[in-house]
Amino acid sequence: MYRMLIYMNNNQSRPKWKLKDYGLRSTPGFVYQQPSALRGRTDVASVTSWLAPIVWEGTFDPTLIDFMYKKQNLTIATTVFALGKYTRFLKDFLESAEQHYFVGFRVQYYLFTDHPEVVPVVKMRENHHLTVRKVPSMNRWQDISMGRMDILEKLIENELAGEADYIFCLDVDTQFYGRWSVESLGRLVGVIHPWFFEAPRHLFTYERRPESLAYIPEGEGDYYFTGAAFGGSLEDVLHLTKTCREQLNIDTANSIEAVWHEESHLNKYFLYNKPSKLLSPEYLWRNINAGSSQIKTIRFSHVAKNNAEVRPNP
Ligand code: UDP
Ligand code: MN
Repeated sequence: MYRMLIYMNNNQSRPKWKLKDYGLRSTPGFVYQQPSALRGRTDVASVTSWLAPIVWEGTFDPTLIDFMYKKQNLTIATTVFALGKYTRFLKDFLESAEQHYFVGFRVQYYLFTDHPEVVPVVKMRENHHLTVRKVPSMNRWQDISMGRMDILEKLIENELAGEADYIFCLDVDTQFYGRWSVESLGRLVGVIHPWFFEAPRHLFTYERRPESLAYIPEGEGDYYFTGAAFGGSLEDVLHLTKTCREQLNIDTANSIEAVWHEESHLNKYFLYNKPSKLLSPEYLWRNINAGSSQIKTIRFSHVAKNNAEVRPNP
Protein backbone atom coordinates (compact mmCIF):
# COMPACT_ATOMS: atom_id res chain seq x y z
CA MET A 1 0.00 0.00 0.00
CA TYR A 2 2.81 2.35 0.95
CA ARG A 3 4.63 1.61 -2.30
CA MET A 4 1.45 2.20 -4.21
CA LEU A 5 1.04 5.68 -2.77
CA ILE A 6 4.60 6.62 -3.61
CA TYR A 7 4.06 5.38 -7.11
CA MET A 8 0.93 7.46 -7.61
CA ASN A 9 2.62 10.56 -6.30
CA ASN A 10 5.49 10.08 -8.67
CA ASN A 11 3.02 9.56 -11.40
CA GLN A 12 1.43 12.95 -10.96
CA SER A 13 4.68 14.84 -11.27
CA ARG A 14 5.75 13.17 -14.50
CA PRO A 15 5.46 14.89 -17.85
CA LYS A 16 2.33 13.83 -19.69
CA TRP A 17 4.00 11.45 -22.16
CA LYS A 18 6.49 9.95 -19.76
CA LEU A 19 6.88 6.21 -20.16
CA LYS A 20 5.20 4.18 -17.45
CA ASP A 21 7.78 1.77 -16.14
CA TYR A 22 6.60 -1.15 -14.07
CA GLY A 23 9.75 -3.20 -14.62
CA LEU A 24 9.69 -6.63 -16.18
CA ARG A 25 7.96 -8.92 -13.73
CA SER A 26 7.51 -12.65 -13.82
CA THR A 27 5.23 -14.68 -11.50
CA PRO A 28 5.95 -17.59 -9.16
CA GLY A 29 5.14 -20.83 -10.93
CA PHE A 30 5.51 -19.45 -14.47
CA VAL A 31 7.88 -21.84 -16.22
CA TYR A 32 10.15 -21.13 -19.15
CA GLN A 33 13.51 -22.25 -20.49
CA GLN A 34 16.52 -21.39 -18.33
CA PRO A 35 18.54 -18.51 -19.80
CA SER A 36 22.25 -19.20 -20.13
CA ALA A 37 25.22 -17.09 -19.06
CA LEU A 38 27.35 -19.05 -21.53
CA ARG A 39 25.37 -19.99 -24.59
CA GLY A 40 24.00 -17.54 -27.12
CA ARG A 41 24.36 -16.46 -30.75
CA THR A 42 28.04 -16.60 -31.73
CA ASP A 43 27.71 -15.48 -35.37
CA VAL A 44 26.35 -12.00 -34.57
CA ALA A 45 26.81 -9.34 -31.90
CA SER A 46 23.84 -9.13 -29.57
CA VAL A 47 25.02 -6.09 -27.62
CA THR A 48 26.57 -2.76 -28.67
CA SER A 49 29.69 -1.17 -27.16
CA TRP A 50 27.36 1.03 -25.05
CA LEU A 51 25.55 -2.09 -23.82
CA ALA A 52 22.32 -1.76 -25.77
CA PRO A 53 20.84 -5.10 -26.86
CA ILE A 54 20.76 -5.96 -30.56
CA VAL A 55 17.71 -8.13 -31.15
CA TRP A 56 18.21 -11.23 -33.30
CA GLU A 57 16.37 -14.52 -33.46
CA GLY A 58 17.64 -16.62 -30.57
CA THR A 59 18.46 -13.70 -28.25
CA PHE A 60 15.09 -13.59 -26.48
CA ASP A 61 12.47 -15.98 -25.16
CA PRO A 62 9.08 -15.01 -26.66
CA THR A 63 7.17 -16.99 -24.02
CA LEU A 64 8.82 -15.10 -21.18
CA ILE A 65 8.76 -11.61 -22.61
CA ASP A 66 5.19 -11.86 -23.86
CA PHE A 67 4.14 -12.95 -20.38
CA MET A 68 5.95 -10.06 -18.68
CA TYR A 69 4.83 -7.36 -21.11
CA LYS A 70 1.18 -8.53 -20.97
CA LYS A 71 1.13 -7.28 -17.38
CA GLN A 72 2.02 -3.78 -18.52
CA ASN A 73 -1.18 -3.16 -20.48
CA LEU A 74 0.62 -1.24 -23.23
CA THR A 75 -0.56 0.52 -26.35
CA ILE A 76 1.74 0.70 -29.36
CA ALA A 77 1.02 3.60 -31.71
CA THR A 78 2.15 2.78 -35.23
CA THR A 79 2.34 5.30 -38.04
CA VAL A 80 2.39 4.68 -41.76
CA PHE A 81 2.17 7.05 -44.72
CA ALA A 82 0.65 6.23 -48.10
CA LEU A 83 0.47 9.15 -50.51
CA GLY A 84 -0.06 9.05 -54.25
CA LYS A 85 0.51 5.62 -55.74
CA TYR A 86 1.88 4.24 -52.49
CA THR A 87 -1.69 3.46 -51.40
CA ARG A 88 -1.25 0.25 -53.43
CA PHE A 89 1.04 -1.09 -50.69
CA LEU A 90 -1.54 -0.68 -47.93
CA LYS A 91 -3.44 -3.93 -48.32
CA ASP A 92 -0.41 -6.20 -47.98
CA PHE A 93 1.12 -3.99 -45.30
CA LEU A 94 -1.98 -4.02 -43.11
CA GLU A 95 -3.00 -7.63 -43.73
CA SER A 96 0.50 -8.92 -42.96
CA ALA A 97 0.76 -6.65 -39.90
CA GLU A 98 -2.44 -8.16 -38.60
CA GLN A 99 -0.82 -11.61 -38.93
CA HIS A 100 2.47 -10.80 -37.22
CA TYR A 101 2.68 -7.38 -35.55
CA PHE A 102 2.17 -7.12 -31.77
CA VAL A 103 -0.32 -9.98 -31.73
CA GLY A 104 -2.11 -9.97 -28.37
CA PHE A 105 -1.15 -6.37 -27.57
CA ARG A 106 -3.02 -3.12 -28.14
CA VAL A 107 -2.06 -1.40 -31.41
CA GLN A 108 -3.30 1.94 -32.68
CA TYR A 109 -2.38 2.53 -36.31
CA TYR A 110 -2.32 6.07 -37.66
CA LEU A 111 -2.45 6.09 -41.43
CA PHE A 112 -1.68 9.35 -43.24
CA THR A 113 -2.84 9.55 -46.84
CA ASP A 114 -3.99 12.01 -49.48
CA HIS A 115 -6.54 9.40 -50.71
CA PRO A 116 -8.58 8.18 -47.73
CA GLU A 117 -11.24 6.84 -50.11
CA VAL A 118 -8.97 4.09 -51.40
CA VAL A 119 -7.83 2.76 -48.03
CA PRO A 120 -8.67 -0.96 -48.08
CA VAL A 121 -10.90 -2.46 -45.43
CA VAL A 122 -8.75 -4.90 -43.49
CA LYS A 123 -10.13 -6.95 -40.66
CA MET A 124 -8.35 -5.95 -37.46
CA ARG A 125 -7.63 -8.19 -34.52
CA GLU A 126 -9.24 -7.43 -31.19
CA ASN A 127 -7.38 -4.47 -29.64
CA HIS A 128 -5.98 -3.32 -32.99
CA HIS A 129 -7.47 -0.14 -34.45
CA LEU A 130 -6.85 1.97 -37.53
CA THR A 131 -7.27 5.74 -37.71
CA VAL A 132 -7.05 7.37 -41.15
CA ARG A 133 -5.86 10.98 -41.45
CA LYS A 134 -6.03 13.01 -44.61
CA VAL A 135 -2.90 14.96 -45.52
CA PRO A 136 -2.21 17.17 -48.55
CA SER A 137 -0.60 15.63 -51.64
CA MET A 138 3.00 16.56 -52.42
CA ASN A 139 4.94 16.71 -55.65
CA ARG A 140 8.28 15.28 -54.55
CA TRP A 141 8.76 11.89 -52.92
CA GLN A 142 11.65 13.36 -50.96
CA ASP A 143 9.27 15.92 -49.43
CA ILE A 144 6.76 13.21 -48.55
CA SER A 145 9.46 11.14 -46.90
CA MET A 146 11.01 14.07 -44.99
CA GLY A 147 7.62 15.59 -44.14
CA ARG A 148 6.90 12.56 -42.00
CA MET A 149 9.11 13.92 -39.20
CA ASP A 150 6.98 17.05 -38.89
CA ILE A 151 3.68 15.14 -38.89
CA LEU A 152 4.99 12.59 -36.38
CA GLU A 153 6.21 15.33 -34.06
CA LYS A 154 2.78 17.01 -34.11
CA LEU A 155 0.96 13.70 -33.65
CA ILE A 156 2.97 12.79 -30.56
CA GLU A 157 2.96 16.27 -29.10
CA ASN A 158 -0.73 16.99 -29.59
CA GLU A 159 -2.50 13.67 -29.50
CA LEU A 160 -0.68 10.68 -28.12
CA ALA A 161 -0.22 11.62 -24.47
CA GLY A 162 -2.26 9.11 -22.47
CA GLU A 163 -3.19 7.26 -25.69
CA ALA A 164 -0.05 5.21 -26.25
CA ASP A 165 3.13 4.12 -24.50
CA TYR A 166 5.40 3.39 -27.45
CA ILE A 167 5.43 4.35 -31.10
CA PHE A 168 6.87 2.80 -34.25
CA CYS A 169 7.07 4.65 -37.55
CA LEU A 170 7.15 2.35 -40.58
CA ASP A 171 7.48 2.57 -44.36
CA VAL A 172 4.44 1.29 -46.25
CA ASP A 173 6.30 -0.38 -49.15
CA THR A 174 6.91 -3.31 -46.85
CA GLN A 175 5.41 -6.51 -45.59
CA PHE A 176 5.57 -8.57 -42.41
CA TYR A 177 6.64 -12.22 -42.66
CA GLY A 178 7.30 -13.07 -39.01
CA ARG A 179 6.85 -11.97 -35.44
CA TRP A 180 7.50 -8.32 -34.57
CA SER A 181 6.41 -7.77 -30.98
CA VAL A 182 7.39 -6.65 -27.49
CA GLU A 183 11.01 -7.75 -27.88
CA SER A 184 11.37 -4.58 -30.00
CA LEU A 185 10.30 -2.19 -27.24
CA GLY A 186 12.72 0.29 -25.70
CA ARG A 187 13.14 3.99 -25.03
CA LEU A 188 14.85 4.69 -28.33
CA VAL A 189 14.92 1.99 -30.99
CA GLY A 190 16.76 1.94 -34.32
CA VAL A 191 16.86 -0.75 -37.00
CA ILE A 192 20.19 -1.64 -38.62
CA HIS A 193 19.95 -1.06 -42.37
CA PRO A 194 19.95 -4.36 -44.30
CA TRP A 195 22.53 -3.19 -46.86
CA PHE A 196 25.15 -2.06 -44.34
CA PHE A 197 25.25 -4.46 -41.41
CA GLU A 198 28.47 -6.03 -42.67
CA ALA A 199 30.06 -2.77 -43.87
CA PRO A 200 32.90 -0.72 -42.35
CA ARG A 201 31.81 2.79 -41.34
CA HIS A 202 33.61 4.56 -44.17
CA LEU A 203 31.20 2.89 -46.60
CA PHE A 204 28.08 4.06 -44.75
CA THR A 205 26.03 6.51 -46.83
CA TYR A 206 26.09 9.23 -44.18
CA GLU A 207 25.88 12.87 -45.24
CA ARG A 208 29.48 13.94 -45.79
CA ARG A 209 29.06 17.64 -46.61
CA PRO A 210 29.69 19.85 -43.56
CA GLU A 211 27.12 22.35 -44.90
CA SER A 212 24.29 19.98 -43.95
CA LEU A 213 23.21 19.51 -40.34
CA ALA A 214 23.12 15.77 -41.07
CA TYR A 215 26.92 15.85 -41.55
CA ILE A 216 28.92 13.05 -39.96
CA PRO A 217 32.71 13.38 -40.27
CA GLU A 218 34.86 10.55 -41.64
CA GLY A 219 36.03 8.29 -38.83
CA GLU A 220 32.77 8.60 -36.87
CA GLY A 221 29.72 6.37 -36.87
CA ASP A 222 28.41 3.25 -35.12
CA TYR A 223 25.92 1.61 -37.43
CA TYR A 224 23.94 2.72 -40.46
CA PHE A 225 20.27 2.85 -39.53
CA THR A 226 17.28 2.68 -41.85
CA GLY A 227 14.78 5.51 -42.05
CA ALA A 228 12.08 2.97 -42.88
CA ALA A 229 11.53 1.85 -39.29
CA PHE A 230 12.31 3.46 -35.94
CA GLY A 231 10.53 3.94 -32.65
CA GLY A 232 10.60 3.97 -28.89
CA SER A 233 8.87 5.78 -26.05
CA LEU A 234 6.70 8.79 -26.89
CA GLU A 235 9.09 11.10 -25.09
CA ASP A 236 12.20 9.88 -26.89
CA VAL A 237 10.60 9.70 -30.33
CA LEU A 238 9.17 13.18 -29.83
CA HIS A 239 12.66 14.50 -29.21
CA LEU A 240 13.99 12.60 -32.23
CA THR A 241 11.29 13.82 -34.62
CA LYS A 242 11.50 17.39 -33.33
CA THR A 243 15.29 17.47 -33.74
CA CYS A 244 15.19 15.97 -37.23
CA ARG A 245 12.37 18.30 -38.28
CA GLU A 246 14.28 21.37 -37.07
CA GLN A 247 17.47 20.27 -38.81
CA LEU A 248 15.63 19.46 -42.04
CA ASN A 249 14.11 22.96 -41.98
CA ILE A 250 17.47 24.62 -41.45
CA ASP A 251 18.98 22.60 -44.30
CA THR A 252 16.10 23.67 -46.56
CA ALA A 253 16.64 27.31 -45.61
CA ASN A 254 20.31 26.83 -46.55
CA SER A 255 19.34 25.21 -49.87
CA ILE A 256 20.87 21.87 -49.05
CA GLU A 257 19.17 18.46 -48.93
CA ALA A 258 20.97 15.62 -47.19
CA VAL A 259 21.94 12.71 -49.42
CA TRP A 260 19.37 10.30 -47.95
CA HIS A 261 16.95 12.94 -46.72
CA GLU A 262 15.50 12.30 -43.25
CA GLU A 263 17.41 9.02 -43.03
CA SER A 264 20.65 11.04 -43.00
CA HIS A 265 19.34 13.21 -40.16
CA LEU A 266 18.14 10.12 -38.29
CA ASN A 267 21.64 8.64 -38.52
CA LYS A 268 23.15 11.85 -37.19
CA TYR A 269 20.64 11.78 -34.33
CA PHE A 270 21.38 8.16 -33.43
CA LEU A 271 25.12 8.79 -33.47
CA TYR A 272 24.90 11.36 -30.69
CA ASN A 273 21.74 10.05 -28.96
CA LYS A 274 22.52 6.36 -28.66
CA PRO A 275 19.57 4.05 -29.15
CA SER A 276 18.75 1.96 -26.08
CA LYS A 277 17.87 -1.01 -28.26
CA LEU A 278 18.82 -1.97 -31.81
CA LEU A 279 16.86 -4.28 -34.04
CA SER A 280 18.80 -6.51 -36.41
CA PRO A 281 18.07 -6.47 -40.15
CA GLU A 282 15.51 -9.22 -39.44
CA TYR A 283 13.31 -6.19 -38.66
CA LEU A 284 13.80 -4.61 -42.07
CA TRP A 285 15.18 -6.86 -44.71
CA ARG A 286 15.90 -5.86 -48.33
CA ASN A 287 13.69 -8.30 -50.13
CA ILE A 288 12.15 -11.55 -49.00
CA ASN A 289 14.12 -13.52 -51.58
CA ALA A 290 17.58 -12.27 -50.60
CA GLY A 291 19.38 -14.53 -48.14
CA SER A 292 22.20 -14.09 -45.64
CA SER A 293 23.57 -16.67 -43.23
CA GLN A 294 23.02 -14.50 -40.13
CA ILE A 295 19.36 -13.87 -40.93
CA LYS A 296 17.55 -16.86 -39.44
CA THR A 297 14.13 -15.31 -39.86
CA ILE A 298 12.77 -12.39 -41.85
CA ARG A 299 10.20 -10.48 -39.85
CA PHE A 300 9.63 -7.39 -41.97
CA SER A 301 10.94 -6.58 -45.41
CA HIS A 302 10.83 -3.98 -48.12
CA VAL A 303 8.84 -5.25 -51.10
CA ALA A 304 10.16 -4.89 -54.62
CA LYS A 305 8.93 -1.66 -56.20
CA ASN A 306 9.51 0.19 -59.44
CA ASN A 307 10.52 3.63 -58.17
CA ALA A 308 10.02 5.27 -61.57
CA GLU A 309 6.46 3.99 -61.66
CA VAL A 310 5.28 4.68 -58.09
CA ARG A 311 7.03 7.93 -57.25
CA PRO A 312 5.65 11.30 -58.33
CA ASN A 313 9.11 12.50 -59.52
CA PRO A 314 12.48 10.93 -60.37
N1 UDP B 1 5.83 7.80 -49.55
C1 UDP B 1 4.53 7.91 -50.00
N2 UDP B 1 4.30 8.34 -51.30
C2 UDP B 1 5.31 8.65 -52.15
C3 UDP B 1 6.64 8.54 -51.68
C4 UDP B 1 6.87 8.08 -50.38
O1 UDP B 1 3.59 7.63 -49.28
O2 UDP B 1 5.04 9.03 -53.31
C5 UDP B 1 6.06 7.36 -48.15
C6 UDP B 1 5.80 5.87 -47.97
O3 UDP B 1 5.35 5.64 -46.65
C7 UDP B 1 7.18 5.29 -48.16
C8 UDP B 1 8.05 6.34 -47.49
O4 UDP B 1 7.41 7.60 -47.79
O5 UDP B 1 7.26 3.99 -47.59
C9 UDP B 1 9.52 6.40 -47.92
O6 UDP B 1 9.66 6.49 -49.32
P1 UDP B 1 10.27 5.28 -50.17
O7 UDP B 1 9.74 3.99 -49.64
O8 UDP B 1 10.05 5.56 -51.63
O9 UDP B 1 11.83 5.38 -49.82
P2 UDP B 1 12.87 4.17 -49.91
O10 UDP B 1 12.47 3.16 -48.86
O11 UDP B 1 12.76 3.59 -51.30
O12 UDP B 1 14.18 4.82 -49.62
MN1 MN C 1 10.52 2.33 -48.48
